[in-house]
Amino acid sequence: MERRARRLAAHLRDLRDVAMAFPDALVVLDEAGCVRWINREATRLLGLRWPRDRRVVLVERLRDTMLGDWLRGDEGSAEDIVSPIASDIHLHVGMIPFGRGRRVLLARDISHLARLGQVRRDFVANVSHELRTPLTVIHGYLELLDPQDVPALAPVLDEMRIQSRRMGQIVEDLLTLSRLEMQRHLHEERVPMAPMLAALRKEAQALSQGRHRVMLEDEAQCDLLGSTVDLHSAFSNLVSNAVRYTPTGGDIGIRWRRTAMGAEFSVVDSGYGIPAEHLSRLTERFYRVSSSRSRATGGTGLGLSIVKHVLNLHQAHLAIESEPGKGSTFLCRFEHARLLEAGSEVA
Ligand code: ADP
Repeated sequence: MERRARRLAAHLRDLRDVAMAFPDALVVLDEAGCVRWINREATRLLGLRWPRDRRVVLVERLRDTMLGDWLRGDEGSAEDIVSPIASDIHLHVGMIPFGRGRRVLLARDISHLARLGQVRRDFVANVSHELRTPLTVIHGYLELLDPQDVPALAPVLDEMRIQSRRMGQIVEDLLTLSRLEMQRHLHEERVPMAPMLAALRKEAQALSQGRHRVMLEDEAQCDLLGSTVDLHSAFSNLVSNAVRYTPTGGDIGIRWRRTAMGAEFSVVDSGYGIPAEHLSRLTERFYRVSSSRSRATGGTGLGLSIVKHVLNLHQAHLAIESEPGKGSTFLCRFEHARLLEAGSEVA
């Protein structure tokens, strides 16, 4: 009996040593969310101390930190949480249930990935910025050249103009994306939706040049709280996609409606549609279902990434429904907190 007990105790010590040496932070919580045990990394990454933090309620201990907020939200896992003790430590965190009502909080140091992401963002922003001036010069000279002076070169000149305009648009979209990615908070203002919707309809009609029926429905009759410029850029990308990916004779609908969650801006088209396997990847930079169709209609492949980033900044999200051959609907879903009744004051 004694030997068995010694063996069991040795096994338990081994298990504890393994957990102690784990490269991720581990915090074992009881049914009430109190700390039962932590490993060494929990001290380095989360600032918890043993035995000081034994039995403390973890959400209370981490109150007013990003991790504390996440714990309150009761989500499964989160990609990028700033450590409660050092703003340059970024964590991937997850909560794993075990036994009866117990849980383990797991936090992995992903600061190196966050730094790599920053390097990538800086690189893209710098390259785009450096390309802007030479492109403006080339574009300016191309506009000055008159094809009538050298008729033989007219088709070449036209193509050069189209391509230089395209490059300019890609650079502008990349700069917009960089700005949105680096931005943590919004400059918040009332975004009047009635003039926004009217402007979007006009844009659709101008782009379509009579090739489509454009319909507008404003059932929500309320405004949004956020950035007018960014929301206009996101909505206008969706409208321009609907026109570009709908053949002549098709319908395009712009809708602003209330929902149980808040309100929904949507653009419906009766166009080519998108096969289901592409839907989850559409908001990736430069992801296209058909590159030739996108280029032929003047796309940069960045529009939906911009839409996603703008919506993220507004705690809104994008839903896409589509059926090949029938058409697509792009829905931007906003929560109640983002809605402003007409005539009310912005807090
Ligand atoms: P692009 O500039 O190529 O249009 P986006 O990021 O705006 O780039 O869209 C990504 C891809 O999603 C497009 O290339 C196209 O294949 C598809 N797409 C976007 N909107 C629609 C739509 N309304 N109907 C069909 N396909 C669409």
